[in-house]
Amino acid sequence: MLTTDVYGLGDAPLVDYQGHLLESDTAAQLQKLQTAAAKDDISITICSAYRNFERQLTIWNAKASGQRTLLDKDSQPISFDSLNDDQLIDSILLWSALPGISRHHWGTDVDLFDAKRINQANLKLVEAEYCATGPCHKMHTWLSQYGSDFGFYFPYQPGLSGVSAEPWHLSYYPKAKQYLSELNIEQLRALLSKQDMLLKDAVLARLDSIVNEFAFRIAPEPLS
Ligand SMILES: [Zn+2]
Repeated sequence: MLTTDVYGLGDAPLVDYQGHLLESDTAAQLQKLQTAAAKDDISITICSAYRNFERQLTIWNAKASGQRTLLDKDSQPISFDSLNDDQLIDSILLWSALPGISRHHWGTDVDLFDAKRINQANLKLVEAEYCATGPCHKMHTWLSQYGSDFGFYFPYQPGLSGVSAEPWHLSYYPKAKQYLSELNIEQLRALLSKQDMLLKDAVLARLDSIVNEFAFRIAPEPLS
């Protein structure tokens, strides 16, 4: 029986923090991080935190059925009808995790923006918002410099991770690395086999390479 919460299934002991569910140590450290950043006039705000397996499966199926728009590497829409199954999987994985391997399953990872400079209603979570001219650039630079003092870093960085660069996605790595070490491909295969998941056979046929590329290949943690 799958009892661990590494796959977003279990009753992980989460806490409600600023309207989002988080792993408790992550919430405590995030609070310190936010307090420190506020002194530099940055309002670090969560737009996404814990997400369970079911939620990720819903996202997956919406993208796999063309109900939810697919975006290419430059965040431009891709035509759904032009893709075969494997291309469809590749396109989904560019921006969405396979259910069971999302780091959001752990409560240790958050998507952040700077509420001082952009409203959540206007936020698209695209790289342009976090680059030099974007409203979240100051926050991203600050987090790159000071995040590791609090145990946080960016796991999805250009050229260093299978997942596309996500300058909004921050991870509390002292806890996240424990979860990652629990991730087991055969357990995941058994779990996915039971699900009502679109593209399931094509995913299972290449599950090892998907997990290695999109879960295990991440930017190295900062030296402490
Ligand atoms: Zn994220």
